[in-house]
Amino acid sequence: MSQQNQAQPHRNFIGGEWVESVSGETYRTINPARPKEIVGWFQASVPQDAESAIAAAAGAAPAWGRMPAPQRGALLYKALEVFGRRGGELARAITIEEGKPIADATGEVKRAMNILEYSAGEGRRLFGYTTPSELPDTAAYTFRRPLGVVSIITPWNFPVAIPVWKMAPALICGNAIVFKPASSTPFAATIIAEIFEEAGIPPGVFNLVTGPGGSIGNTLVDDPRVKAISFTGSTEIGTRIYARAAESLKKVQAELGGKNAAIVMNDADLDKAVPGIVQGAFGSTGQRCTATSRAIVERGIYGEFMDRLIEQTKALTVGDGIDPANDIAPLSSKAQLDAVREYIGIGTEEGAKLAFGGHALEGPEFEGGYYVEPTIFTDVPLDSRIAQEEIFGPVLTVFQADGIEDAVRISNSVQFGLSSSIYTRDLVQAHEYINTAETGMVHVNAPTLGGEVHLPFGGLKASGVGQREQGTEGFNFFSETITAYIDYSAGSRERSRFI
Ligand code: NAD
Ligand code: MN
Repeated sequence: MSQQNQAQPHRNFIGGEWVESVSGETYRTINPARPKEIVGWFQASVPQDAESAIAAAAGAAPAWGRMPAPQRGALLYKALEVFGRRGGELARAITIEEGKPIADATGEVKRAMNILEYSAGEGRRLFGYTTPSELPDTAAYTFRRPLGVVSIITPWNFPVAIPVWKMAPALICGNAIVFKPASSTPFAATIIAEIFEEAGIPPGVFNLVTGPGGSIGNTLVDDPRVKAISFTGSTEIGTRIYARAAESLKKVQAELGGKNAAIVMNDADLDKAVPGIVQGAFGSTGQRCTATSRAIVERGIYGEFMDRLIEQTKALTVGDGIDPANDIAPLSSKAQLDAVREYIGIGTEEGAKLAFGGHALEGPEFEGGYYVEPTIFTDVPLDSRIAQEEIFGPVLTVFQADGIEDAVRISNSVQFGLSSSIYTRDLVQAHEYINTAETGMVHVNAPTLGGEVHLPFGGLKASGVGQREQGTEGFNFFSETITAYIDYSAGSRERSRFI
């Protein structure tokens, strides 16, 4: 594959055509399990490419927006069918480019298909509401109108699911999109573009521009033809985009970092809690925004919890994600590996106790891949960096708590607020947590991970701002609500003197 791709770089998709960047430059991505293996060559786009994509989207948006929503839905159902056909290929693309285990990649493709299905069906709803007017013989109702052109800027850790859970609601609502995937995962993005092309989405409605955010990001935010930005990524970049978009009063939806906690109370079912935390902390190599990076364990069960946690973590196998036997795959890039190793060093310096793992795996059998052992820290000072900052790797920090109030205090002690979980059989304790956890999503007796596409997804505090993604909220973000008043009375009448 690398040979063929080297000869034939992948292109941007703009206005229904596969085109090269005006920069004439390409760059390559590599397989994090075997960094010598090139996945493909891609366009290193510059602002002029982003402008062309925005122009194509602006040209296509009016007709797409006028198409009856059920017809747009029919095209999304077609895209769903093509996704199904190419799902295996797409999962493999995720694994060789991002690194995650093939089972996780397959699950990710399934998630993308779920949101396509859900959004396609919304073509027959997209409800507004009607309500009585205060005036006689007057109809009052709301309806949705597309925004126009929207920019979709996504991270590398879910190279298929996150883009699609933005695109599908954006498209059904009648918007044209410009999609900029993370610079390290353009291969999966290219296949997504091919799928929408094959599904028959009209030219210009779906545009793909690859390359670094630093070079084209500002154009995708500043251009006056862009009406909204849906962003998922780091809190740092999201904050910059939010501030920048405010200059031109654009809508922004920003899904950012996390430092998610799972609480284990004395009465918890450890047969659920321990595997749930192992999966939450180490699944997808810990590179999930909803990963469990903190376990908060009530004192009475701490010893037994730790014994079982370490026993189950020991059983995990680390290796190339393409081999279904491996539980933990490489980190996604050298930069990720370096960052995780640095945090492991910091943890030890800050006085936490390394209870398991902590090493990079570097033998010849690892072929230079970016592997690190699943790692567990205990006795972590609450104000330390590993207790507070997002590590984004297979590193779990464990805390002890004295009762539910203390557990909630520790859980809420971070700047992030994406997802959380509590293991308990006690409804009072569970509800105490549901009602006070400073996170956008709360799970009871289940891992901090995931969610369903017909329910809103997103976080509080430094984990996000703007309307939630998915569920009805997702459609709200991608549409304007227009209010209509229609006077159908026969004669003239007194006008309201108010606003
Ligand atoms: P990142 O912020 O570095 O990059 C995200 C995207 O922004 C990429 O496409 C990047 O090219 C682009 N970008 C970079 N600079 C830009 C600029 N100046 N203007 C516009 N765009 C720019 O994030 P990442 O490293 O790709 O992803 C990891 C982060 O994403 C983690 O913090 C993780 O928690 C977060 N994340 C959050 C969620 C969520 O839903 N809350 C989901 C997944 C990942
Ligand atoms: Mn980054």
